[in-house]
Amino acid sequence: MSRLDQKEIDEVNRRLSTAELPEILTWALDRFGARVALSCSFSTEDLVILDALHSLDRPFRVFALDTGRVNEETYQTADRVIARYGTKIEWYFPAPDGVERLERTHGLYSFRESLERRHECCSVRKLEPLDRALLDLDAWMTGLMREQSVTRSEVRLVEIDAAHGGIAKLNPLCHWTSEGVWKTTRGRDIPHNPLYDRGYASIGCAPCTRPIGPHEHPRAGRWWWELPEQKECGLHADFSQGGGI
Ligand code: SF4
Repeated sequence: MSRLDQKEIDEVNRRLSTAELPEILTWALDRFGARVALSCSFSTEDLVILDALHSLDRPFRVFALDTGRVNEETYQTADRVIARYGTKIEWYFPAPDGVERLERTHGLYSFRESLERRHECCSVRKLEPLDRALLDLDAWMTGLMREQSVTRSEVRLVEIDAAHGGIAKLNPLCHWTSEGVWKTTRGRDIPHNPLYDRGYASIGCAPCTRPIGPHEHPRAGRWWWELPEQKECGLHADFSQGGGI
């Protein structure tokens, strides 16, 4: 399996731009085999993809990052997903010495002090484990959708992930809407995190996520003390590149 070059990416983006989810996932598994995996945070978006992968009745890989700060409900959702699909989850945890250094030096809630401190926490708890998760992959799949935020409005079906050695990043739901995700979730009885029923629209770590009000943007409940263009954890945008964090 070779990596994608820009020519193939352009061709695939053109050819699969109107394809249904199973066709996109079939292409991904044919193209990358065991060197592609779904990055799963147990969001409704990720679980729509996992459900579709499972329906293909072929082997597929799923990894998840346990930051150590997620809600109990997220663990319960993961447990229900494993029971429902029999899927093996490849869990990744932060390096213990990194978390120890972070908490001993800056305390337990340093991410509220400044953007720099927040990035530091996300780097230790998310980015370093993600780097390890992607080490043996040529492509990873995400549930990113263009409608999710100002930082995601340009997301394409297939992209080069320059921050991770130029492997491919596949966003099979990039053109979906939240309404479509929920319709599929309910229609196929896909497990969902019960926090959604309590007003959460986007779920990350417990201390950095809150429910939103009726007229708030779905990402308003993430890092609500920051500006909209700053609301990324670095998994999908490079902190070092300034805007689009
Ligand atoms: S979302 Fe919050 S708690 Fe989780 S890694 Fe980022 S700053 Fe730390």
